[in-house]
Amino acid sequence: MSQIAKRTIMTPGPVEAEPRVLRAMSAPILGQFDPAFTEMMNETMAMLRKLFQTNNHWAYPIDGTSRSGLEAVLTSLIEPGDRVFVPIYGRFGHLLVEICERLEAEVHTIECEWGTVFSEDKVIAEFKKVQPKILACVHGETSTGCLMPLERIGRACRDEDVLFVVDAVATIGGVEFKVDDWFVDAAIGGTQKCLSVPSGMAPITYNSRAEAVINRRKKVERGIATEQDQTQPESTIIRSNYFDLSQLQDYWSPRRLNHHTEATSMIYGLHEGLRVLLEEGLQSRFERHIYHEKALIAGIKAMGLELYVEHEQKLPVVTCVTVPNEIDADAVRSFMLTHFGVEIASSFGPLHGKIWRIGSMGYSCRKENILFALSALEATLLFQGAAIESGKGVQAALRYYEA
Ligand SMILES: *Cc1c(COP(=O)(O)O)cnc(C)c1O
Repeated sequence: MSQIAKRTIMTPGPVEAEPRVLRAMSAPILGQFDPAFTEMMNETMAMLRKLFQTNNHWAYPIDGTSRSGLEAVLTSLIEPGDRVFVPIYGRFGHLLVEICERLEAEVHTIECEWGTVFSEDKVIAEFKKVQPKILACVHGETSTGCLMPLERIGRACRDEDVLFVVDAVATIGGVEFKVDDWFVDAAIGGTQKCLSVPSGMAPITYNSRAEAVINRRKKVERGIATEQDQTQPESTIIRSNYFDLSQLQDYWSPRRLNHHTEATSMIYGLHEGLRVLLEEGLQSRFERHIYHEKALIAGIKAMGLELYVEHEQKLPVVTCVTVPNEIDADAVRSFMLTHFGVEIASSFGPLHGKIWRIGSMGYSCRKENILFALSALEATLLFQGAAIESGKGVQAALRYYEA
């Protein structure tokens, strides 16, 4: 096999994996019912509760990327004709709608200009008009670099008996996110962003309100069901086998009822990633992300570049930079990758070529990475003839770090 290139990854995912996580993942395989492994599953659940800041019993990963977590939660909660409300402020809000539509939900949306977020009052007033069963919303929108405040929306959902489902894929482990205090009924996280575990798992959590809906739709598979297992009428069962949370619950509980073959190496990685995170401490980790974000912003601005999002609701772990006129955004990215081994991201749809997105997440969020990414961007822009302040970006970041 040829040697895999070594990169400095400053995108909104995947980011560089924690070295300890990669080492843990190379451990020998355990059987999925081996007590040595099921003990690790229980520890993973306990650590996920801390990550999500919840007392929920259910906190476990779905095997698949973050999108599989979104799909598992929505598929298990939504029945055809259910009303769902989604405020959209970027690409991943549209993804929630895509998934809900395939489940034949009656989807109601509001949309605001990309690069901005809704006020909580606006979302609350609009969802009350719709009276949905579920309100689904993105916490950190990586496509635009914005962060939605959620606490009051959660409170209002609880008052109206609406299930509040949150995509916290980009924020979990990097930005404050409180499942219980914010009245979130179900949340989905990601591994390859602020947790710095490779892509391929989606940690989720949900409370007894969501569980009640799931249990009403429970079916135990033929061939493993016992006489005690009552099956619900076919009309209500969850339409996906793989994403059926009622079956996954039986595997992630003392019954250990077989579903799929657990991805043991991925669990080793997640387990180790969570240990690293809890050793650092959630609050210190959130502060570290803000600390390095400030250095990055200081460098970007000193170069004479403009931030695409600069308001209160900027997502601390993704910094979007407006591409200067006459500059080819993708050519800059590929030059940085070729000569410096530094990867930054483009954006999607209407923003492609208009902004760069620089991630500062998890293990990638550290001083040498920030300084190296700024150096690479500055040198590349100068080489390509952009009218920027020569040499000022890295100096500003160094002054910040020395202060
Ligand atoms: C990255 C991301 C996703 C999708 O994650 P995958 O792991 O690629 O499936 C969903 N939502 C948000 C907000 C994201 O940033």
